[in-house]
Amino acid sequence: MKTLIEINDEHDTCECCGKTGLKRVAWIRIEDGTVVPFGVCCAASVLGVSKAGLSTKARAVALAKKWRDAGHPAGVIVKGLWNQFGFPVAVDESAPGRPETIRIGSFGRVEM
Ligand SMILES: [Zn+2]
Repeated sequence: MKTLIEINDEHDTCECCGKTGLKRVAWIRIEDGTVVPFGVCCAASVLGVSKAGLSTKARAVALAKKWRDAGHPAGVIVKGLWNQFGFPVAVDESAPGRPETIRIGSFGRVEM
């Protein structure tokens, strides 16, 4: 399962197709646990969403991290994201000893 970590400008090459000179990349955690940079087009494609959908989810992930870092509990973040974006957000049951994870759509994940 591939999950979106964030979109930023810290890299300029897509590891999927090799395209260079990108203004921004989507960092995606792939099945073996490594995080690799994808161009936005390739990222949207592998995640099965439109580019617009990817951007919206990335904004939601960034906002969730900001709220988490400000000390808000998962329940508050989930309600806030719902109010702001209107798409399903859920908190995954945490396994013992592991942090709760906020699930944003099918591929956005924010560990608490
Ligand atoms: Zn690519």
